[in-house]
Amino acid sequence: MNKDKLKEIQNELPENVTLVAVSKMHTKEEIDEAHKLGCCIFGENKVQEMKDKYNPDYTWHMIGHLQRNKVKDVVPLASMIQSLDSYRLAQEIEKQCAKINKVMPVLIEVNISRDPGKTGVLLEEAPSFVKQCMRLEHLDVQGLMCVGPLTDDEDKIEGCFERMHALFIKLQNEYGEDKFKYLSMGMSDDYHIALRHGSNMVRLGSVIFGKRNYNK
Ligand SMILES: *Cc1c(COP(=O)(O)O)cnc(C)c1O
Repeated sequence: MNKDKLKEIQNELPENVTLVAVSKMHTKEEIDEAHKLGCCIFGENKVQEMKDKYNPDYTWHMIGHLQRNKVKDVVPLASMIQSLDSYRLAQEIEKQCAKINKVMPVLIEVNISRDPGKTGVLLEEAPSFVKQCMRLEHLDVQGLMCVGPLTDDEDKIEGCFERMHALFIKLQNEYGEDKFKYLSMGMSDDYHIALRHGSNMVRLGSVIFGKRNYNK
């Protein structure tokens, strides 16, 4: 846990920007510590991990690819699903939310780098997908999410974030700023670039919690 860095980030983030502390592969104790230091939203990319670490006093966002058979487990716990990437998934969220009378805030994930290995809808598919999801009663489509390209080429990252921002503004003009609120963009290595391109929600893991140990 990098306390000084967290403080620095909390001080540098503009007031309109929401910080999601990505706690995947980190322990409950580390999450409690981050909460004491002012983090209140935690992002997990696996349903099982969210279940294991769930604490009702904190706010939890699902940020990873979600399988339909896991939706019923995540729906009672999550305050937002940021990784909505197919209509079949949207329908399953609708169904499970209807059962427990919950309206789920969701973000549409866009595969902005057009990487075949990444999830998300393509940029040109996003407007009609957003419209389709908005018709589902138990979904509240509140914006867009993307993962930037994994590269050191800043121009390439900038290009992706610019396109994402343009799409966000277009949809915001269509649906209104009060409804279409969030552009979730920027991770530890690229959040400064994302903030320059209109991001208002950053998802930071390693810069706060330290490197994840994938061999644990
Ligand atoms: C892991 C993850 C993050 C955080 O990544 P860091 O590089 O550790 O900041 C953000 N968003 C998603 C979707 C992730 O899976």
